[in-house]
Amino acid sequence: MSAITTFEDFNLNRQLLNAVSDLGFQHPTEIQQKSIPIILGGQELIGIAQTGTGKTAAYLLPMLMKIKYAQGTEPRAIILAPTKELVIQLAEHARQLAKYTDLRIQAIYGGIGPKTQIENIQQGVDILIATPGRFTEIYLKGELPVKQIKILVLDEADRMMDMGFMPQLRKIFEVIPRKRQNLLFSATFPEKVERLSAEFLEFPVKVEVTPQATAARQVGQTLYHVPNLKTKINFIEYLLQDKETFNRVMIFTRTKENADNVFKFIERRNLGPVRVIHSNKGQNSRINAVNEFKEGSIRVLVSTDVTARGIDVIKVSHVINFDVPLLYEDYVHRIGRTGRAFQDGKAITFVNKAEEYHIEKIEALIREKIPVMPIPEAVTIEKTPFEEKQAMNKAIDDQKRKDDPTFKGAFHEKKESKKKVEKKTVKKKEYNKADAKRNAFNSKNKASADKRSGRKGTDEKKYKGKNR
Ligand code: ADP
Ligand code: MG
Repeated sequence: MSAITTFEDFNLNRQLLNAVSDLGFQHPTEIQQKSIPIILGGQELIGIAQTGTGKTAAYLLPMLMKIKYAQGTEPRAIILAPTKELVIQLAEHARQLAKYTDLRIQAIYGGIGPKTQIENIQQGVDILIATPGRFTEIYLKGELPVKQIKILVLDEADRMMDMGFMPQLRKIFEVIPRKRQNLLFSATFPEKVERLSAEFLEFPVKVEVTPQATAARQVGQTLYHVPNLKTKINFIEYLLQDKETFNRVMIFTRTKENADNVFKFIERRNLGPVRVIHSNKGQNSRINAVNEFKEGSIRVLVSTDVTARGIDVIKVSHVINFDVPLLYEDYVHRIGRTGRAFQDGKAITFVNKAEEYHIEKIEALIREKIPVMPIPEAVTIEKTPFEEKQAMNKAIDDQKRKDDPTFKGAFHEKKESKKKVEKKTVKKKEYNKADAKRNAFNSKNKASADKRSGRKGTDEKKYKGKNR
């Protein structure tokens, strides 16, 4: 095969080439160069490349080429993605690329009633883009014809195959035709997930532009050791005062409470315009927030990890990790919201003492050390309140105990009555809940790693990935 350097080198039709040129794409990215011919050739594929490198078009273009023109009423290709925001964005991207064809592209997702979506399906669909939840719901109503599906894409494939989605996915696989072409794409793809994918893939080709979990090259990363919540807030205020440099900023937090608190603070201090997104926010407010942020009418978007994946906003100047993510892979996805499509971006991470443990794990995952910078002098360092300090010490003890089960711990829980703990340390509870979830997920990974090395895995707790 001769080297592919332009879109004209693929066997794509004129309609698609014109749409690509309208989008201003000059050269295919590496993942596009490598994946498009393989998909056109009919093979199954696992595509791994950093965030922001055009994975969507890497599967959409050959898919559109194969589905070609409107036919019958039933969908012939389906794309599954983890969030409604991403489903909507994928549908937009697909419509842009299909604009010179008569292909019918429909998005189905939760948060609003299914009625309109069902009517849309009845009018005829060629390509369906769905969250697994809404797919299942409409299918069970008998309103989703699935027998013509010949191509299946899992976008953010590792997320789609974690404990939150896999049971649902298995049911979907049972009802769609077995003979189909499966395509999996993500920037992170742990080995454990790859083994799981062997369940339904047939001789897939693995296209790995960089090893999985490689942080986007164009993103400059910095880490600051920030002692506590209040200092983190002061730091945010300090950074956001520079409106020119910090012109489009995403702030990620691991809990909804922190997201709300950071949001309120920014609003009160007039550092916005700002919006907040998490799983408790209504459908419209989530989608509007993403749209306004994309258009540039809001400067700061505060979010939990619900938007860490897939969302494509050009010219995000900075990603700020107010705290470290629940799942280590999400670090790669969070910082990947900046530095997209050949642009530069910066990622800043705040780490308190209890989070240092997780940062080490993240650095191991991405195979690089994040440069540490001192906190600027203008940021007021607050004293850590007693309860926050206790919660952190407790978390550190738990981490030590995890690595060494005989470790007794410096923090003595016994001294506190149960009631007191419940009443006084809400923050600590949040922390532990988050830790428990993450541990359950990571120990899943560990369990299978143990299995591989012949040891016995433990802990089979369920990780509910959707509740963020
Ligand atoms: P990924 O899924 O790999 O994170 P996306 O598919 O969301 O990335 O693409 C990131 C951005 O790059 C999008 O804005 C997309 O329009 C743009 N893009 C995709 N392919 C190209 C290309 N060949 N040239 C220029 N920009 C591209
Ligand atoms: Mg993507």
